[in-house]
Amino acid sequence: MTRSRRQLSGAEELALTTQVEAVCPICGVGLFRRKGRKEFKDYEIAHIYPLNPTVEERIVLNGLRKLNEDPNHLDNLIPLCSGCHSAFDKPRTADEYLALIDKKEALIAVLEQRKLQHFYFLQDEVSRIVEALDSDDYTAANVILSLEAKPIDEKFDSTMPPQLRRKIRRAVSEFFSDVRERFQNLDKERPGVSDLISAQVKAFYKAQRVNQWTQQQIFTSVTDWIQKRTNAKTREAAEIVAAFFVQNCEVFE
Ligand SMILES: [Zn+2]
Repeated sequence: MTRSRRQLSGAEELALTTQVEAVCPICGVGLFRRKGRKEFKDYEIAHIYPLNPTVEERIVLNGLRKLNEDPNHLDNLIPLCSGCHSAFDKPRTADEYLALIDKKEALIAVLEQRKLQHFYFLQDEVSRIVEALDSDDYTAANVILSLEAKPIDEKFDSTMPPQLRRKIRRAVSEFFSDVRERFQNLDKERPGVSDLISAQVKAFYKAQRVNQWTQQQIFTSVTDWIQKRTNAKTREAAEIVAAFFVQNCEVFE
């Protein structure tokens, strides 16, 4: 039986091109071309798992995971520039197929994470800590010994890449005790507020965890959430607060 390509609605096509941020997810070239005053499509919608696999393709892809059993499902479709599309299709290799599956899965996760970031509330008081970290005259009140931050390594699993581990470890050893003191000060003004913040961060973390995202994806999403919710000027300040919550056990427990 030969399956036919499903006609996508305008909204579906827009959703797919937005998901890849309007660039080819393989080579990075823009998916739209401007000529004069008009904008033209410069992409093709590719099936990640082929719509009508040939005998060779069935053998190559046999047993490999799919994001959906229906090849016409949006999770199996991705816009590619025409060059990458034909290179991807002919010949189809298991490695390239799996790499594109990984990419698509990460893109789906980013969108889901954005929804969660919008849905989960974070107390306004956190903005004050982020602002202090971002201010020109910031000086950490006291720096703890790196020894104290050591157990943080035990919280990481293999999905946390080494460069991000180092970054979190550095943020903890440099800023943990200072950020902790700032939370304690918030509590003096409004008793219980740091407990409330802790519960909010934990809930946000758990919402990520049920989706089985990697530690790298989760830490990035926690940072994005803090940055958006606090209007942090720099990503670094949001990262320091996210690293605080790792050491303080709200994230990665
Ligand atoms: Zn391309």
